[in-house]
Amino acid sequence: MAKAILFDVTKCIGCKACEVACKDQNHLPENEDTKLTAVTWNIVQQHGERYVRRFCMHCQTPTCVSVCPVGAFTKRPDGAVVYDETKCIGCRYCMAACPFEVPKYEWASTMPRVQKCIMCASRLEQGQQPACTEICPTGAGLFGEREELLKEARVRIESNPGQYVDHVYGEKEVGGTSVLYLSSVPFGELGFDTNLTTDPLPSLTWYVLSKIPNLVSFGGVMLFGIWWIINRRITLERERVQRQRLENQERDGKSEQQLGTRAMTMAEEVD
Ligand code: SF4
Ligand code: SF4
Ligand code: SF4
Repeated sequence: MAKAILFDVTKCIGCKACEVACKDQNHLPENEDTKLTAVTWNIVQQHGERYVRRFCMHCQTPTCVSVCPVGAFTKRPDGAVVYDETKCIGCRYCMAACPFEVPKYEWASTMPRVQKCIMCASRLEQGQQPACTEICPTGAGLFGEREELLKEARVRIESNPGQYVDHVYGEKEVGGTSVLYLSSVPFGELGFDTNLTTDPLPSLTWYVLSKIPNLVSFGGVMLFGIWWIINRRITLERERVQRQRLENQERDGKSEQQLGTRAMTMAEEVD
């Protein structure tokens, strides 16, 4: 069954334990990021008195999956949208196409990858919930089956008149997402895009994108892809040569040590 995360803005106290848990789980460095970056996949942002977690929405019909020309993104049956860096050619179509501006690129890296929340896919495989929902002290982030969470969201709205706006963000946006939000104020006040279509965006493929002038340049992307692959191979080769050199130095050092020991032994025998 497809899983999801329900985030209830009224329950979040801004403690940021979920940010820390995400970084621990994914071996990401600590820093002072205030928005999503290649090393910050989950961010708690303050809007007036309210706190909102932003991370990948794990769309039901993800555009990052449909635009990727080499199939580096996959939507899994459990709901997570994951990324395979070994397939990525660095074209960054996914960044241009994501309606929530989620994927980020490792600009400074010699081996750049696209980075984003993967819904703790390895934890889901072991029957665990994501690190961020497990750590949340108030239950602001709730993990479960998408259908059950939608029911829960409806119950909260109906049984607490005036506490919530009558909208579950993510239920229908871009065809639905696996991250759902409840809020006490209109979503536009929390920085959400409230003009998104409720239709999925599967027609947004890499081929269609390449035909839209000024959005992405097909030739440029392909050239960049070729450069990226060549650069990656050069880097790998450089690392291999460096490793080989270190191994040789280590071996030569050992040989010299053995020769020295033998010479000393022979000298002692002559004496
Ligand atoms: S939010 Fe963006 S990156 Fe995440 S699944 Fe949807 S399209 Fe892909
Ligand atoms: S689901 Fe996992 S990867 Fe995604 S924000 Fe939560 S802890 Fe981070
Ligand atoms: S751990 Fe829970 S309460 Fe704390 S910031 Fe994250 S979502 Fe909000």
